Amino acid sequence: MPESPVTRAEAELRAAELRKEISYHAQRYYALDAPVISDAAYDSLVRELEAIEAAFPDLVTPDSPTQRVGAPPSELFAPVTHAGRMYSLDNAMDMDELDAWLVRVRDAVPHERCTFVCELKIDGSSIALTYEDGVLVRAATRGDGRVGEDVTANVRTIRDVPLRLNEVDGRPHRGLVEVRGEVYLPKASFERINAENDEAGLPTFANPRNAAAGSLRQKDPRVTASRELATFLYAIADPVALGLATQSEVLDWLRKAGFRVNPDVASCADSDAVRAFCEEALRRRDSLPYEIDGVVVKVDSLALQEELGYTSKAPRWAIAYKFPPEEKTTRLLDIQVSVGRTGVLTPFAVFEPVFVSGSTIQKATLHNAEEVRRKGLLIGDTIIVRKAGDVIPEVVGPVVGLRDGSEREFTMPKVCPSCSSRVWQEEGEVALRCPNVACPAQRLERLIHWASRGAADIEGMGAEIIARLVDVDLVRDVADFYTLSVDDLAGLDMGRTKQDGSAVVLGETVASKILASVDASRTRPPARLLFGLGIRHVGAIVAEALIDEFGGISELASVDEERLAAVNGVGPRIAASVTAFFAEPRNRDVLDRLAAAGVVLDAPRTDELRPRPLAGLTFVLTGALRDHTREEATVALKELGAKVSGSVSSKTSFVIAGESAGSKLARAEQLGVPILGEADLEEILASGRPPGTP
Ligand code: NAD
Repeated sequence: MPESPVTRAEAELRAAELRKEISYHAQRYYALDAPVISDAAYDSLVRELEAIEAAFPDLVTPDSPTQRVGAPPSELFAPVTHAGRMYSLDNAMDMDELDAWLVRVRDAVPHERCTFVCELKIDGSSIALTYEDGVLVRAATRGDGRVGEDVTANVRTIRDVPLRLNEVDGRPHRGLVEVRGEVYLPKASFERINAENDEAGLPTFANPRNAAAGSLRQKDPRVTASRELATFLYAIADPVALGLATQSEVLDWLRKAGFRVNPDVASCADSDAVRAFCEEALRRRDSLPYEIDGVVVKVDSLALQEELGYTSKAPRWAIAYKFPPEEKTTRLLDIQVSVGRTGVLTPFAVFEPVFVSGSTIQKATLHNAEEVRRKGLLIGDTIIVRKAGDVIPEVVGPVVGLRDGSEREFTMPKVCPSCSSRVWQEEGEVALRCPNVACPAQRLERLIHWASRGAADIEGMGAEIIARLVDVDLVRDVADFYTLSVDDLAGLDMGRTKQDGSAVVLGETVASKILASVDASRTRPPARLLFGLGIRHVGAIVAEALIDEFGGISELASVDEERLAAVNGVGPRIAASVTAFFAEPRNRDVLDRLAAAGVVLDAPRTDELRPRPLAGLTFVLTGALRDHTREEATVALKELGAKVSGSVSSKTSFVIAGESAGSKLARAEQLGVPILGEADLEEILASGRPPGTP
């Protein structure tokens, strides 16, 4: 976690930034079921804000994400007020934090012998079920903890939810009972749904948890029914009213009433037993048919729970021990090379498909030849892979002891793998480049860049569809997106076959949705469109500065180099690149055709929340950069949401090494932190994407 700001003014500023950022991600996660950063990255932002608020308590605002659970309920569903608040859980990120919590709890209630119940932390979506006289009358999501969404019709389709309760110990049910638990999607169903969505050209879910939440919050219960959701229940809103005294009794009652209760539960008398349960759960994680992301440890006695109470967000009597990020081994089949939008050649690992942290992965970037050498990878190696921040696939390194002599070394190609032009290397750079601007791979990347989220943001127009549109010659440059019709897209052969051998083609509904997003992209803020044009050295920040200064893309096209260079944050190198771009008749032609197709190149700036794709990543800059001052690079990385730190630690995500880099480089090598060169930095700033994301 980053160091806390020192002064109150700095703290206030940083806290405000963090709140804005966290709210944006919470909205994507809870309301749209479509997160764009990893949970670990999100948690680290929340923890940074918590640390600031702990140091400056008067900065805590009632609407701070540290004080709230989830997100307000969507208006698509009727609101349901919960019988009592539904809380989140505080996290212990490692065994030390778990131990500290166990000690804290014991110290808080020294007069009693405190025992604990350990349960698996099911990675699904919270649910509250209300029964009246034993009959299911309502089901609600957690929402913001006080008010959730009415999803009764959908929950009725989940087969293991009892519509009527069994009598418990011979007693019939009277009045209202609210029970709580988790709706989840078994791993097999998650894989199936994603495969089906993939075949239909629809977006896939990031992980089973988002898939479960998305499946539960459907307008059409038939869709929910088709998803094979399941439940585990673990709580009762008012257990004392039922004469229960411990969490163990709560689980027992739920079981007898007919609910599914997870069988992996243990009563633990001391911290050794709690630790043993957590370690065993981690070992068994992969063999379970559903995802778990940790263990929930709860104080068993309900009386002690009441004494310990709640913070604004979570009970003090429970904690979620989160598993460390998953690592797996697999076989490195090949190292291939891709060509980026600016011609940079990037090696990437192709390995046997392996299921890691919620989905199957089979490729990971290796950044540059130097990184391949540093990691000591040979083709054919058994390798360890993981997802950096639980999202981006990463090769940790080879298992050298498993080599049998058949492995071979990788060398970078001498010619571009796409157009066979001879590659070259700028002096002092690690990156190799393809010099051919007409190179098909570069062209494809430019089109993908235009459609990407930070640019024209054409939802649904993914890399695969664009590649097919290029193959059939429907799209050559970005202006061609705006001439597409439903007929062009519907029936587009995706060049793959389904399991039954028939060809995968784009459906009409998907085609219409994509065209609607093409249409919507006509009015994106001009700075984003300018960024989307992919002019060398014009990243998201420079594009903003240029549009701020000149008002629009057409105006910019007629500005001379000197005036451009005078703009704050631009300078001669960028100015030359911009002028050269607009002087090129082919580029002028594209702009004319964009304007003619109704793409608004000069609309006034809207105040949209800029995506911050590097949030949660920490960079360290070392050595002299050729094309940037350290300060420029820092500002640019921060604008994309990254943290830039002065020292290398195990928390550093990437080190960017310029010339004559010294001790920081050595430290990064020692800690195994990935090291990037200036060309990689260029790519990151130009694409606005974390290194290694496609
Ligand atoms: P949480 O998932 O960390 O823990 C609380 C939830 O655990 C409870 O509400 C309950 O639904 C569930 N749970 C599962 N098994 C349980 C059991 N046996 N007993 C009790 N509860 C059990 O907290 P949260 O508030 O739901 O969400 C926070 C999580 O969501 C964090 O991990 C965060 O990283 C992630 N998140 C990610 C993003 C992103 O952009 N990636 C955004 C927002 C939140």
